[in-house]
This record gives sequence, C-alpha cells and structure tokens, in this order.
Amino acid sequence: MQPFELITAQNVASAVKEQAASPTAQQGASVRFIAGGTNLVDCMKLNVETPRRLVDINGLPLDTIEKLPDGSVKIGALARNSDVAQNDLIRTQFPVLSQAILSGATGQLRNMASTAGNLLQKTRCVYYRDRAYACNKRAPGSGCSAIGGYNRNLAILGTSEHCIASNPSDQNVALMALDATIHISGVNGQRSVPIAAFYLLPGSTPEKETVLLPGDLITHVTVPALPPGSKSLYVKLRDRASYEFALASTAVVLKTRQGKIEHVRAALGGVGAIPWRSQEAERALVGHAPNAENFRKAAEAALQQARPQSQNAFKVELAKRCIVHTLTQAAQLA
Ligand SMILES: Cc1cc2nc3c(=O)[nH]c(=O)nc-3n(C[C@H](O)[C@H](O)[C@H](O)COP(=O)(O)OP(=O)(O)OC[C@H]3O[C@@H](n4cnc5c(N)ncnc54)[C@H](O)[C@@H]3O)c2cc1C
Ligand code: SF4
Repeated sequence: MQPFELITAQNVASAVKEQAASPTAQQGASVRFIAGGTNLVDCMKLNVETPRRLVDINGLPLDTIEKLPDGSVKIGALARNSDVAQNDLIRTQFPVLSQAILSGATGQLRNMASTAGNLLQKTRCVYYRDRAYACNKRAPGSGCSAIGGYNRNLAILGTSEHCIASNPSDQNVALMALDATIHISGVNGQRSVPIAAFYLLPGSTPEKETVLLPGDLITHVTVPALPPGSKSLYVKLRDRASYEFALASTAVVLKTRQGKIEHVRAALGGVGAIPWRSQEAERALVGHAPNAENFRKAAEAALQQARPQSQNAFKVELAKRCIVHTLTQAAQLA
C-alpha cells in the first residue's frame, strides 16, 4: 500500500474544499473521502486506489435517519448499513431496502459500511482488482481483460465494448426501485440528483461511474413515500446463501387495484453495468393483471436487450426467473 496522509474533516465545507483541491480528483487518485473504509481500504491494499491523502468524514453529522414532513425518509450519507436495515421506519415503510442491505456482505461489514460508501462501491470484476491485467476502468485505454476472460459474474445489460463490469451493490438496486434522490454538497453549493440519473453507463469512458464532480460530498439520500397500499420485496440469487454478491437480484415495488397493477417499479442487480431499473418490465405490467403470464412477459421485456458474454449466458434466464419469482411473492404479500 502506498503511504498516505490522513486528515479529519471538520465540517462539510472543509471536506468539499479539501477534495476539490486534489489535482487529479476527477480520477479520484489523489484525495479521497473515507467513510467505513470497507471498499476503499481493500482497493488501497491492492494498489488499485492510490490516494496520497484521505479525508476522514466519519465525524461529520451525517448519520441520522429521519422522516420528513412530506412522508419521505432522509438517510444520512454516514448512516451505517446495519442501522438503516434495522431502522423501524425503513423496515415498515421500505422493507425492500432493509432486505436488500441485509442480503449483502456480513454483519461486521454492514456495521462499518455507510450509505454513501455503498452507493460508490467498486465493481468486483477480478481484473479491476489486479494491476497485472489490462482494465479500462482502472487504467483507461489499457483494454478489457474480462471480454473473453473470466466474466461469469459480470454484466449482461448496459455494457460496452470497453467494459462489461457489473455493479455489485444490493442497496442500490432497492434505492433504484424506490426512486431515491442523492443529495450532494459541492464547490458550487448543494444539488440533488435522482438515482436514475446518478450512475453513468460505461460507454467509452468506464472510469467515469457517476455524475459526481471533484469535491462532491454525498450528504444524504431521500426516499419518497410509496403510494399507499404498495408492497415491496428484494430477492437475491447467488452461489451461496451468505457473504456473496448477486448473480441476479430483483427489487420490486408493486401496487394493485381492482385486479390490475396500478404502480410498479422493477430494478435488477447482478446483471447491469449500473443498478438496473427496467422500465421495459414496468411498462409491460402497468394496467395488467398480476399473474404468472404477465410476470413472464415483463421478465422477457426486461432482458430483451441482454448481451451475454462467454461465461454468463445463464444469467439471462436466471434474471428472468428472479423477476417472475419476486413479482409473484410481492403480489402475495399481505
Ligand atoms: C467481503 C465483502 C463482501 C461484500 N458483500 C457485499 C454484498 O453482498 N452486497 C453489497 O451490496 N455489498 C457488499 N460489499 C460491499 C460493501 O457493501 C461496501 O464495501 C460498503 O458499502 C462500502 O461502504 P464504506 O462506507 O465502507 O465505503 P468506503 O470504503 O469508505 O468508501 C467507498 C467509496 O465511497 C467514497 N465515499 C464514501 N462516502 C462518501 C461520501 N459521503 N461522499 C462522496 N464519496 C464518498 C469513498 O471515497 C470511496 O471511493 C462487500 C464488501 C466486502 C469487503
Ligand atoms: S470489465 Fe471493466 S472492470 Fe473488468 S476488466 Fe473490463 S474494463 Fe476492467
């Protein structure tokens, strides 16, 4: 690991200023925020991330979870994954978020992992984490070792000829289905970005993963109240029952009325270059009966644009079955 300096942020403004001053902040190479450290420190040990300075943001007052007057919930950037998952408000109003978080990592990791750190966690593509291999995301222009290489766990939706990495997060799939908004403090003040516009597809610049700019500090996430009577559910399929990333997962929010689907959100994990909201599936469902035939039609629509790689064609059918199963279970919730 490369030596680095550790400083403690005194407030949001100084943290922003510190990181924005980084000459290579766009690539994140020089000055980085550190929250739980469960992703960043891993990458630093592998010399995949080589910051000269870390700005410890853990002392900032950004860890609360509170209900806002409009019924939405505000989750601080430093709220730990365990605290979010076990929060009464989250468990009762947004069970999909609690379930998604609890399906990830381990208790110890969730105790450290923060909401914002989870939003920004790096891909688990093995070549990204190994400097011996070409990787356009880590070293732009060097090539992609995963195309034609080991790609069993990588993406089938939203990929490009430059990068086929999958977004590994569970939390973010639920936040996508919940229409969350990311709130950011930056050098030009505060702004809010809907999660649907937060992540960037790899295209020809896979190193640019989000719309964050140098100095941007995520302060909190808001989740709007669901339409009354909605049900929500997260289902994750993986190689083993715990301590494993998703091969395919689905987060759904579903509301039916008089035998028809009135409101639905469907997001997929493990298969997308970014947490993947499927508006194709949603369009196939709204106005139709919540039954097996229509759920399968929605699953077909969701995976229509899938571009599997040499080792992950199995994910196409796996993801479809995950969608059908999650919708079926959600429709049966009391
Ligand atoms: C063995 C293992 C298994 C795992 N399994 C799963 C799993 O199954 N599912 C899953 O979803 N996740 C899993 N994870 C990932 C885990 O959820 C993440 O490591 C964690 O959420 C990252 O949060 P953190 O606070 O530790 O982030 P850090 O490591 O502190 O930071 C991550 C990144 O976010 C940036 N950052 C942090 N906070 C802010 C902020 N407020 N504003 C701007 N930038 C910020 C940092 O600069 C860094 O780039 C696993 C991790 C490990 C190590
Ligand atoms: S898939 Fe993306 S992260 Fe993996 S080697 Fe290719 S460019 Fe790198």
